[in-house]
Amino acid sequence: MQTEQYSLVLRKKQKADTVRKQCKMCGKVTIFTDTTIRRHNANGKNIYQFAIYKCPKNHSWNKKLDIYKSFSEHVDPANLVETEFNLIQDGEKISLFKSTETFYEINISSAEGSFRLDRTLADYIEDWSRTEIVQKIKNGEILLNNRFTKPSQKLSIHDKILIVVK
Ligand SMILES: [Zn+2]
Repeated sequence: MQTEQYSLVLRKKQKADTVRKQCKMCGKVTIFTDTTIRRHNANGKNIYQFAIYKCPKNHSWNKKLDIYKSFSEHVDPANLVETEFNLIQDGEKISLFKSTETFYEINISSAEGSFRLDRTLADYIEDWSRTEIVQKIKNGEILLNNRFTKPSQKLSIHDKILIVVK
């Protein structure tokens, strides 16, 4: 049984973060802009989260954001180590019925601000209304970190939302 895995960066609507620094490729100080793309790399027992910044000439710089132990509470190393996540872009909605998968997993790779589970899913899933999502959370067809939860539950970084499509 395959699980389709997604990652989601939850941010308040704001201008992209910029950093002034030397670009080795350009050979001068320039402005790097946060692409909002996040990448996870494993190194021993630690997992590092990087933000990908780009200079105006499209050269990349990886800013280290977080280091967390792969064996801490709800971080399943199997899901992070060398896993290619489908990043859900801002304003994009995913369709759960496009493929034949039964299980969908959405990993919260960043949560800057306060985000309710039901509202967030309604924002990013095109197939279901918020009312339907609330019902599915109550039915246990949507789990948070493999547990029953409530629609108003706030999301945090490293949370894992499991969706069972019947
Ligand atoms: Zn450059």
